Amino acid sequence: MIDLHTHSVLSDGSDPPERIPELAAAAGCRAVALTDHDRLDGLAAAAARAGELGVELVPGCEISCDAGLPGSMHVLVWFVADGEGPLQDELAGLLRAREERNVLLAERLAALGLPVTLAEMEEEAGEGSVGRPHVAAILVRKGVVGSMQEAFDVWLGQGRPAYVEKRRLAPAEAIGLARASGGVAALAHPLSLGLDPPALDGVVAELAELGLAGLESVYGRYAPDERGALVAMAERHGLVATGGSDYHGTYKPDLAVGVGQGDLMVDDAVLDALRGRAA
Ligand code: AMP
Ligand code: ZN
Ligand code: FE
Ligand code: FE
Repeated sequence: MIDLHTHSVLSDGSDPPERIPELAAAAGCRAVALTDHDRLDGLAAAAARAGELGVELVPGCEISCDAGLPGSMHVLVWFVADGEGPLQDELAGLLRAREERNVLLAERLAALGLPVTLAEMEEEAGEGSVGRPHVAAILVRKGVVGSMQEAFDVWLGQGRPAYVEKRRLAPAEAIGLARASGGVAALAHPLSLGLDPPALDGVVAELAELGLAGLESVYGRYAPDERGALVAMAERHGLVATGGSDYHGTYKPDLAVGVGQGDLMVDDAVLDALRGRAA
């Protein structure tokens, strides 16, 4: 069993990178991918700990894309190491753009009378990059909202008053840069695109044409019938049906490494299939 989708404190998870392989080993995973948003600099610490535990650490990241769709598009990338390269260099630019966005986000929160400063956001994120989940956590702690989900539904989600756009790559850029850096790309949590099944099928066909390798089908928060439909969709388009928990520690407390909400089981063969797609 494996887990191809997890986050650490370097993005919007709550565990240090080296804790991810520990949790994976405890769950019985042979391999685990660390896929922080826009960042690869947690991979070294995670790989070192994974080596001690006899778990394979799959280097990865998750990238937000703009495809002009109703929902949000995230692309998972694996087999790209920290350092220099086409994707790596682009990620540095995305991080700078995120920092600029966060300044605007703090200004927007202040204008709305919400008690969250940039300094508090940075403290919440620690060594990680500030993201909206950190703002949501502060709003919960201060009693402004009752839950992280309410923070997004009322304030932070797309189209809500505190939503501030951040720079996103076109899907073709994310997929192309991943391949140019020796990696493979998959569409993360495809139901987040906000499309009905036929429309999703059409988008997946276009992405496959662009060089997408996988479709995240066995996802921590998806029901068995949703997973089944996505596995079938992956097969129709010649894509690897990937899977992962999207573990974020306390920021998504219902999800555990390896097992998701308790029923996740991603086969080792998925990783072998992805490796076979790498350049
Ligand atoms: P950011 O990268 O700062 O724009 O934050 C994006 C993260 O916020 C995503 O990876 C999700 O974890 C979370 N998020 C975005 N939209 C929602 C939503 N509508 N409900 C709950 N969480 C969300
Ligand atoms: Zn996240
Ligand atoms: Fe995501
Ligand atoms: Fe994720």
